[in-house]
Amino acid sequence: MRLKNKNVLVYGLGDSGRAVIKVLQEHNAHVSFYDENPRYWDYVGFVKNPMDKHFDFVVLSPGIKVIKNTLLENFKERNIPVYSELDFAYLLSKGKIVAVTGTNGKTTVSMLVNRILKEAGYSTFLCGNIGLPFSAICEKTTKESVIVCEVSNFQLETSRFFHPNVACILNIKPDHLDRHESFEEYVRVKEKISQKMKAKDLLVSNLDDEVSRGLCKHRKRLYFSKKILKKGVFIKNEQIFYGKKKLLDLSDVTLRGEKNLENVLASLAISTAFKVDAESIKTAVSTFSLASHRMELVGSINGVTFVDDSKATNVASTIACVEAFSKERIVLLLGGKGKEIDYAELFSLDYPIKEVVCFGEDRENIFASAKQFGYHTTVFEKFDDAVKYSISNSQSGDYVLLSPACSSFDEFTSYAERGERFKTLVVGSVQ
Ligand code: ADP
Repeated sequence: MRLKNKNVLVYGLGDSGRAVIKVLQEHNAHVSFYDENPRYWDYVGFVKNPMDKHFDFVVLSPGIKVIKNTLLENFKERNIPVYSELDFAYLLSKGKIVAVTGTNGKTTVSMLVNRILKEAGYSTFLCGNIGLPFSAICEKTTKESVIVCEVSNFQLETSRFFHPNVACILNIKPDHLDRHESFEEYVRVKEKISQKMKAKDLLVSNLDDEVSRGLCKHRKRLYFSKKILKKGVFIKNEQIFYGKKKLLDLSDVTLRGEKNLENVLASLAISTAFKVDAESIKTAVSTFSLASHRMELVGSINGVTFVDDSKATNVASTIACVEAFSKERIVLLLGGKGKEIDYAELFSLDYPIKEVVCFGEDRENIFASAKQFGYHTTVFEKFDDAVKYSISNSQSGDYVLLSPACSSFDEFTSYAERGERFKTLVVGSVQ
């Protein structure tokens, strides 16, 4: 991809957009940017009316909504090529690419695969939706690199060139229905991960997930499952196998919950595309811990245990957390900005939820659904009040789970800020 002296517009000034700008500047391209957020309008390089200007091409950040976007329509009419940030970074990178997508578990699997491959001696880069844009590292990669890239739907939506050597669709459940036009559209975008893959590439698929197992039918694939399989990666007699080869004892898996076990299976299935010895797998898996705000134990106060699972931003991820703690008595903190997902999926399951404490913009919907299934439910407008109530009203032996099933954007800038606030309130209650 030739960049020198090209006239390029970067659309969206998030972390990805900034990383793209840096690369373009290093190549002496003429860079400008557009962002709807007035915060950036007095920054050097801001273009107020991109429709009036010519560009050789545009690089689109994943945060930009695509549907009914008049600016993108204008670029199309004027035949100005638009590259997704993922495509831009891909076209400038070298080495092998492992791409992980799915509704939930992407970060966990990307991190674990990265750990396994590092342990086995590979030179890896972990990037993408995980927080470090692919564009920030793409030019550091070499032929020997393995790039483990967490890929979200927002990144796939406009990608045309991105070509992973190994790709995994972990699972597909309703999410982001507020951004995609329908669930079918959401699924169609996920499928795009394999659009450029060839016969020698490997698609890893979850046989136990109703939707994702049927996707990308024409691709060569490796299934993983918790049930016994002839081929693929599966569990038998408390051990994980790849076909006839034993990979790991289940006792080496320290992560909680059935869904994290699926994440381990997916990571091992991905690793089969590389030369990885059993010892490296064992070391990586047995010492692996989840990233912050994923089923994270905050601590215990007067016998009450607090868990920060703020990253659970849809109903399926909350179910994963509740299942992981289903031997305990649960007080469940739910709420935030809803995503038009039906909470009945959670409440119809028979988990030991002692009380639902709901908050935020979607609290009335949660309340109505929880009531319908007979749960003891308390409602608060504000997050802080809900957390404080759960701290002061819980009893010894309770597990208070912040696993909200909603995004945080009604009260916070991110799930991480929400999780940090939770920890502050919990820890602060001791003083
Ligand atoms: P993502 O990057 O896709 O958001 P994470 O690995 O960060 O996924 O996990 C987010 C939340 O989803 C966790 O807090 C956990 O509750 C839940 N989770 C993790 N793995 C899975 C899975 N395989 N299926 C369903 N839920 C999961």
